[in-house]
Amino acid sequence: MPGINVLKNTVKSTVIKEMGEMGHEQIVFCYDKPTGLKAIIAIHNTTLGPALGGTRIWNYASEEEALQDALRLSRGMTFKNAVSGLNLGGGKAVIIGDANKIKSEAFFRRFGQFIDSLGGKYITAEDVNMTTQDIENIARETKYITGMPQEKGGSGDPSPITAYGVYMGMKAAAKHAFGSDSLAGKKIAIQGVGHVGSVLVDYLAKEKAKIYITDISREKLNTIARKTRAEIVSEEEIYTLDIDIYAPCALGATINDETINKLRCKVIAGAANNQLADEKKHGEILKEKGIVYAPDFVINAGGVTNCYAEFTGKNDSAGVYSLTKNIYDTTLNILRKAEAEAITPHEAALGIALKRISDASKVKENY
Ligand code: NAD
Repeated sequence: MPGINVLKNTVKSTVIKEMGEMGHEQIVFCYDKPTGLKAIIAIHNTTLGPALGGTRIWNYASEEEALQDALRLSRGMTFKNAVSGLNLGGGKAVIIGDANKIKSEAFFRRFGQFIDSLGGKYITAEDVNMTTQDIENIARETKYITGMPQEKGGSGDPSPITAYGVYMGMKAAAKHAFGSDSLAGKKIAIQGVGHVGSVLVDYLAKEKAKIYITDISREKLNTIARKTRAEIVSEEEIYTLDIDIYAPCALGATINDETINKLRCKVIAGAANNQLADEKKHGEILKEKGIVYAPDFVINAGGVTNCYAEFTGKNDSAGVYSLTKNIYDTTLNILRKAEAEAITPHEAALGIALKRISDASKVKENY
C-alpha cells in the first residue's frame, strides 16, 4: 500500500532519527476527530522519574514546527528537572490550534485520556495559552496533572515561586560577580513585568535596588512604577543601559547577534526560557565579555518545584520556598565550576544535569 510506504518513510527519515539525535524516549501523536484535538506529547528522558512539563497551545504554522517545539521543550525540561535535584524526567506537550477557537470541555477531557493512557509516564501542567479551567477539565480524566487551583487543593499559580527562585539565582550571580549578594544600590533592568517580572520587582524594591523596567504594556509599567518608583525605559533602551544586572523576564532569545554587543551589564539573570539565541555561540561571547550569565533553566525552576510538590503531596508553601531557596547554592556552584573549568555557565549546568542522569541510570542497573 503506497500510503503506508509514505508514512514509513516519513517516520523513519525524520521523527525517529531526530528522537535518536536528541535522546527522546517516546513521542505520542494524538488526534481526535470529534473534538478536533491535535496534540503531540514528547517524553525526553525518564531516568530520574516521570516526565513533567506543561502543555502549550500554539497556532503552529506546520506540524513540523509543533514537533520541533515539543522536542526542544521536553529536552529542556529534562535538564531543568535534573539540575534542580527533582526526581523528575523531562516531557512537554503541545496542542496545535488557535487557543481562542479550539477549547471545549470535551477537547480537554479527550486530551486528558491520552495523558492517562501513558500510565503516569508523563505529568502535565499549565504552559502558554492554558488556564486553570483547562487544567481542571484535563483532570476530569487523569490524575497525572499539576497546577490545579489552590481552592481545589492544587498549588495554584507558580509565578511567585518562579520569581523567588530567580531572585535567589540573581543574588548568587551577584555574589560571584561583585563579591557580595546584596542588591542594595545595584542598577537592575527588568524586561517584562508580567506574572514573574512584577513579583521580582517587589523583591528588588525591598532590597533598595535601583530598578529599570520595560514592557509592551504601558498599563503594567505605570502600575509598577507608581508602586515601586522603578524607572520606565523603552523596549530598545533596555539593552544599552549602563547597569549591573539585566533580567530578561519576557521572551526567549533576547541575547542574540543584534543585542549582545550592546549589553553593558555585568550579570544576566532572568526568568525567560531559552534566553541565549545560540547557547554555544552567545554563551561563549558572554564569557569573553566577562558577563556572568546565570543559566535560565537553573534559576527559573521555582515553578516546576511547585508542581513537583503538588504532585508528591507535599504541597506546603513553606516547604516549596525552602526547596526553591536551593537555587542560590546551585547557581553559585555552577558559576564557580564554569570559572574553574573555563567553560560557560550553560555548559557547566548541562554537565551537572547529565551527570546526575548518568549516575542514576547506573544505580538502576544494580537492581
Ligand atoms: P507573562 O506573559 O505574564 O509576562 C511576560 C511579560 O512580558 C508581559 O507583561 C508582556 O507584556 C511582556 N513582553 C512581551 N513582549 C515584550 C517585549 N518585546 N519587551 C518587553 N516586554 C515584553 O509571563 P510570565 O509568566 O511572567 O513569564 C515570563 C517568562 O518567564 C516567560 O519567558 C516564561 O516562559 C518564563 N517562565 C515563567 C515561569 C512561570 O512560573 N510563570 C516559569 C519558568 C519560566
